[in-house]
Amino acid sequence: MRRILLAAALAVSSAAAQAADLSVVATFSILGDMVKEVGGERVAVTTLVGPDGDTHMFQPTPIEARTLGDADVVVVNGLGLEGWIERLIDVSGFDGRVVVASQEIAPRPIDGEHPSHGAAADGAHAGHRHDHGVVDPHAWQDLANGRAYVTAIAEGLAAADPEGAATYAEHAASYRAELAALESDLRARIAALPAERRSVVTSHDAFGYFKDAYGIAFVAPQGVSTDADPSARDVAALIRQIRDEGIGAVFLENISDARLIRQIASETDARIGGRLFSDALSGPDGDAPTYLEMMRHNIDTLTAALGG
Ligand SMILES: [Zn+2]
Repeated sequence: MRRILLAAALAVSSAAAQAADLSVVATFSILGDMVKEVGGERVAVTTLVGPDGDTHMFQPTPIEARTLGDADVVVVNGLGLEGWIERLIDVSGFDGRVVVASQEIAPRPIDGEHPSHGAAADGAHAGHRHDHGVVDPHAWQDLANGRAYVTAIAEGLAAADPEGAATYAEHAASYRAELAALESDLRARIAALPAERRSVVTSHDAFGYFKDAYGIAFVAPQGVSTDADPSARDVAALIRQIRDEGIGAVFLENISDARLIRQIASETDARIGGRLFSDALSGPDGDAPTYLEMMRHNIDTLTAALGG
């Protein structure tokens, strides 16, 4: 059984392991994708928290400790996202290089009004709380920060594998150019939205950097518990909020009752639907298999919902 579990956990890296120069562990799916882009064939990447996983609430096992213990480099987000990483590094015996992807970004404080700081869990990733620290860890939601992550990763890989430095720098430069092109497209599409349709209601609380960078307001739903489907009174309060605040779209994946969705849609101008990805990529067949595709998907979903 243990062999099978180990084989499954390490399947991602084993194919490339013989050929690769550097064994790299990334804490979660978004960083894992960035490391692949920058490292190319020189690195074998293992991601600890995979697609659709919750990095905040992750509980490492001895399998992850063994994986980390064998690695040359670990790439972490920092900013309090991985509350479990220090202990995992301690118990794993890891003695390689720790690369903090967010090292060059300017952190923003966590917004005080977000529902995850109260009693309600974030329904979009159940049980997920952002109370590890005072800064918002979701810096990758700003593509300029994403480019800074790529630079930090390239420098970290180069420090661990100096022979690959030119390759990493080259990969990082072309990847940053792709991210910059996507960002220009994003800004142009948001600029084309009607000014009064640039706010959405969502129970996700991971879009603070996106809001600061691109001017889309993400408003927490009032009165809607994320633990259960809302009551008629909750829905009435939400409808009032949508009208009063001129909300253009609603992304509430945790409301499962289709009648409530139809009621909100029929009594307001807001459009409903779509999925926004915040903390994790999708699987390979999903809408957000890479960081670039995740950001593009979110932009497509937001502009489709907010368009005139
Ligand atoms: Zn989060």
